[in-house]
Amino acid sequence: MDSCYLCGKAFNGVDVIKHDEHIIQQAIGGSLTGNDILCASCGGKLGNDIDVPFTQMFSGIATRLNIKKDRNSNKYKSVKGILLSKVDQYNIKMNQIDVLCKEFEVTPLKPFHKYTDDKRKVIIYGNKKVTNQYRKKVEVEISEKFSSHELPEIIICNDIEGLVSYPLSLDNKVLKQGLAKIAVGFASKYGIPRTEFPLALDISKEEPIFLDKPLVVPFYPLGIIDRHIEAERNKLCHYPTHTAIIFTTITNPKCLACYIDLFSTFQFYVVLNNNYTGEDIYKYFTQRILRKDDYKFELNRKYYKERNIHLDSLGITEHRIDGLFENQTNTPENNKSREEIECEIIQEEYIKQKYRIDLEDDVSGYVSYVMRDKMLSDNIEKLDMESVMNFKRNFDLFYSVQGDDEIFDISSYRRYFSYNNVLIDFLYSSMQSSKELYRSGELRNYCHLKVKMLEDFIQREGIKIKFNL
Ligand SMILES: [Zn+2]
Repeated sequence: MDSCYLCGKAFNGVDVIKHDEHIIQQAIGGSLTGNDILCASCGGKLGNDIDVPFTQMFSGIATRLNIKKDRNSNKYKSVKGILLSKVDQYNIKMNQIDVLCKEFEVTPLKPFHKYTDDKRKVIIYGNKKVTNQYRKKVEVEISEKFSSHELPEIIICNDIEGLVSYPLSLDNKVLKQGLAKIAVGFASKYGIPRTEFPLALDISKEEPIFLDKPLVVPFYPLGIIDRHIEAERNKLCHYPTHTAIIFTTITNPKCLACYIDLFSTFQFYVVLNNNYTGEDIYKYFTQRILRKDDYKFELNRKYYKERNIHLDSLGITEHRIDGLFENQTNTPENNKSREEIECEIIQEEYIKQKYRIDLEDDVSGYVSYVMRDKMLSDNIEKLDMESVMNFKRNFDLFYSVQGDDEIFDISSYRRYFSYNNVLIDFLYSSMQSSKELYRSGELRNYCHLKVKMLEDFIQREGIKIKFNL
């Protein structure tokens, strides 16, 4: 693009400078970027107003997934939760206590101690920092309460084993604006002009803004194949991932919309334009989620020998390095050297390549899994003829014949499906059924199932990290 999608001003390199924008926010591990969609001033403003509160909502998940928040900070953050299990590993009764989880170790907010029923052991709960001090208090207590030959054994517990729930409070306005910003950024990356997003952006004002209530529709797997994919999504291909698909609907009036799927869990459509007259589009992006232990890049002698090859293979131009170097807005003493900037860009591009996955490969994997598992197994005998035909028609949407070959075709994924032999737009169908799905509780159950799947994954990952598996 040659201008900023928010203010509409053309980039001139003087007072309207290109901003390195993370279309999917970096704080949730996003690696989708665009460097010619926002100006520095609008990019900074949207970062504060929309990205900060939006990513805050997911910080409990991002922290426990060990997502790199900031390249320069290696500090681990802790996440608040509530212990749900009624007893712990020492068979001590626990009652919905507030806990902190840090590096997958669960401790109470404040240290406390409890005796086992037979009074032969006393367990001190707390993090490593506080339990040593707290132990002295317990030693005094037991010396007063017990005679010297009955002293209970002191056990320090720095990690309570049990089921913890990490509350997720999704604020409607913050959530919708954050999603709308991803959708508009992604559409802009494909050159769609800012006048085409009337349901997300108000550009009539002197200072254009994102609408307070952009049109966001929750995704629910209405199609038969999607239902099977989502039920076992954590077992298929890469998990969890972030995905964005910008597309037009297939029936009229033509909508321009973006499907957004964060952590393979939070799934929505953002409608940008409900009367779109531009070209049909179906473009997608998907990535694994970034981790803290990423590759650290250094400019050493070996690098300089092969510098041009490195830069070429990562698609980095001298122009881009110069641009970032010259357009630094820090005070002069805080400005980075050209080498530091070069190093940062290489690292960023390297990470992008490392985490980039091909959605088409993944979806092809899901679809053939569903076909093998559901259609070619005994299950098929339980289905009536109409259901089998419906399955077959939906399956066929993913394949097209070219010459003698049958090739995989992703372009219906999350866009349309077949029902009663009619092609139906996912978006329209979701809009029509969302009230009913909400009323019946099905939508809520589905969202709970998705969050539970992610929670289980995080727990298992945590166990692997804790025990170096
Ligand atoms: Zn701007």
